[in-house]
Amino acid sequence: MISDSDTRRVTVLGSTGSIGRSTVDLLLREPERFPVEALTAQSNVALLAEQARALDAKLAVIGDDSLLPELKARLAGSGVEAAAGAKAIVEAADRPADWVMAAIVGAAGLGPTLAAIRRGAVIALANKESLVCAGALVMREAALHGATLLPVDSEHNAIFQVFDFQAAGSVDRVILTASGGPFRTLSLGEMREVTPAQAIAHPVWSMGAKISVDSATLMNKGLELIEASFLFPVPEERLDVLIHPQSVVHSMVCYVDGSVLAQLGTPDMRTPIAVTLAWPRRMPTPAARLDLAAIAKLTFEVPDSARFPALNLARQALQTGGAAPTILNAANEVAVEAFLNGRIGFLDITRIVEQTLTRAPSGVSLNSLDAVREADNQARRYAAQLIDPAADDRVVQMQTRGRGRA
Ligand code: NDP
Repeated sequence: MISDSDTRRVTVLGSTGSIGRSTVDLLLREPERFPVEALTAQSNVALLAEQARALDAKLAVIGDDSLLPELKARLAGSGVEAAAGAKAIVEAADRPADWVMAAIVGAAGLGPTLAAIRRGAVIALANKESLVCAGALVMREAALHGATLLPVDSEHNAIFQVFDFQAAGSVDRVILTASGGPFRTLSLGEMREVTPAQAIAHPVWSMGAKISVDSATLMNKGLELIEASFLFPVPEERLDVLIHPQSVVHSMVCYVDGSVLAQLGTPDMRTPIAVTLAWPRRMPTPAARLDLAAIAKLTFEVPDSARFPALNLARQALQTGGAAPTILNAANEVAVEAFLNGRIGFLDITRIVEQTLTRAPSGVSLNSLDAVREADNQARRYAAQLIDPAADDRVVQMQTRGRGRA
């Protein structure tokens, strides 16, 4: 639990990523208010060491254990403890910090996030994949251990700010907005030819590679639908998605009396991160102020499910329940990685996810981390075989064993 004092000890899981760097930027502005317990990364040892020194962290952990000697060398004389490996990342999450930023990308974030949850910490949750692949487990553990989950995803953070939890029955619909990504206006034929570089170049947000590709397929919005279904007491059929290319309205909550409450802002993740960092208060950020007169026009459109089938796949997985969201997420991670490595085309991503969902058994309940891992690993194997039918069991095991960024 966060104490009444304004000072809070913090840990950043995935400090070298896009969300991690934005978080570190805020921490550096108020180092006395936010003493740092631990920072973690997977392979960017140079930036991790630089951040740990700048923030005077107690511990820095690198996931790739072959990089431990380099991390130690870079931290020599700083007093920052160094550790390595996937297990050490989980241990870092387990160390005493009031507030933990969960910003590891992919299902690899699940183990460390659960460790922080089981300590009853306040979790700033950016790692949406952990809710998608193990939502019931994460929510059950959070309730059991008195952890607080504060959503960082700009849409969920927006909903969190305007959702009347005391009158949840008065919520009619929740509308998640989506920028539409870089291929919003492309035909299917044009999308077939797009390259990883084009997919990563998001028109509005600057983000890591995996979420940028997810935004381009609209799978990101699908993952967010599933995320929202766990975070807010609203049934799936009342969760809508609207394309809003300007990304000014970050999401909306519609009430039974006709009121629609929205949160607006410039597209800068430091704002939602700050909401969670200062919660339940507010803190200043350097994010650009919103100038609606300069923007002049805000537009909204319905997503095109023919060109962007990922959204419906995610909705179906949510309706199916059981292991279906876990399968969807695992297949998507494998397919996005294959696309980024040039092994499949852009349109193949959703095809692989759809075919994996058809093949992998979803009618199992995922009550434990082991059950989640099993469903996740099986889906990864199926997806990898669809990508490369000659593939055998060499495939990616669930990322708690440690692997590079997608
Ligand atoms: P990045 O790819 O930029 O960063 C990922 C971070 O996780 C890095 O610190 C990376 O370390 C680390 N990492 C990668 N693989 C592993 C692993 N196997 N084990 C441990 N650590 C690992 O991602 P983003 O910051 O863009 O996204 C992070 C999460 O936040 C995602 O779940 C994303 O969906 C979510 N999110 C991101 C938003 C954004 O604006 N970027 C917005 C909303 C949500 P290294 O740098 O060393 O590889």
